[in-house]
Amino acid sequence: MKNTAKIPLAKPSITELEVSFATDAARNGWGEHCYAYIQKFEEAFRQHIGTQHAIATSSCTGAMHMGLAALGISANDEVILADTNWIATVAPVVHLGATPVFVDILPDTWCIDPARVEAAITTRTKAIIATHLYGNVCNMNALLEIGHQHGIPVIEDAAEAVGSTYFGRVVGGVGLFGVYSFHGSKTITTGEGGMFVTNDPELYERVLTLSNHGRAAQQVKQFWPEVIGFKYKISNIQAAIGYAQTLRVHELVNRRREILAAYQDTLLQLRGVSMNPELAGTRIGAWMPTVVFSEETALTAEVLIPAFQRRDIDARVFFHPLSSLPMFGQEKRKSVAASVASRAINLPSFHDMTAQQIDRVAEVIKDALRG
Ligand SMILES: *Cc1c(COP(=O)(O)O)cnc(C)c1O
Repeated sequence: MKNTAKIPLAKPSITELEVSFATDAARNGWGEHCYAYIQKFEEAFRQHIGTQHAIATSSCTGAMHMGLAALGISANDEVILADTNWIATVAPVVHLGATPVFVDILPDTWCIDPARVEAAITTRTKAIIATHLYGNVCNMNALLEIGHQHGIPVIEDAAEAVGSTYFGRVVGGVGLFGVYSFHGSKTITTGEGGMFVTNDPELYERVLTLSNHGRAAQQVKQFWPEVIGFKYKISNIQAAIGYAQTLRVHELVNRRREILAAYQDTLLQLRGVSMNPELAGTRIGAWMPTVVFSEETALTAEVLIPAFQRRDIDARVFFHPLSSLPMFGQEKRKSVAASVASRAINLPSFHDMTAQQIDRVAEVIKDALRG
């Protein structure tokens, strides 16, 4: 019975360390200690990324919202991002009144296509968002070069990319600012949570003020907000869990990479299968093992999802192109984003996954390809 139990898509790894820090925060993290774990978490994570500054938030969406607001993005501005994205990446753009401009992805990394970015730039473009999809790494040099030429900042959505590096630099720390998610499904989790990181001291100050309801850090006058800010703070208890997870980040990422490698050992031998690539100069954090089937296989997510469900395995569809969602109301385009989404599937990956469970998942794909 045991080896047929349901296989979830994701599940955090919570050890005695997380439990002991969270317990300590619940018992003692009040009054003068109410920020103690937040400070430890921010410092440990900041060091891991290698940026000058880090601000823990209640979500990645909140971190992105504040970062874009601090750049002054507002109505009449355009923000370029990949059509393949989670809704969280574009929602803050819309909330600020700006116009999202969706561009197509590359067929190998499924990340934003720099040539399409360049073609989409107008006088209204105020930012380019590079989302490191499923832990795959964007072509940052090309994006930074385009940004530099046009005087437009490149921002990294590294929500899915803890553990990914680009020519030795940890992603999220490469662009003007980076944001991370610690949602329960992500590589590091706090249940819900996020982080804003940057090397820019002024941007840091602005986001810090925004994150504290518009109260500047050096303001001595109490209850004295100077601008309308946000309430996207993380709690000390969540930060306690995040601090423990950050101390274990290499262990967590290595296991993700092992699981992806185990899938690749079997699946890449099959015809018409490609998976998360690791291009020269990059290392991927392997958050979400993803299979894309070639057009010749005629395999689609529509066929595969029920096949996984029948075997009690929680596989997921690839992100729908944002441009296809009802609120953006754009007519269906023929694009790499749409084509890949129809032929792809996300596979389960979690720290304590067994070799047997990986085999069970791989079997479904082998069977489907046999027809
Ligand atoms: C998870 C995720 C987010 C949002 O993270 P939250 O912490 O849920 O706000 C943003 N972008 C991407 C690419 C994500 O995968």
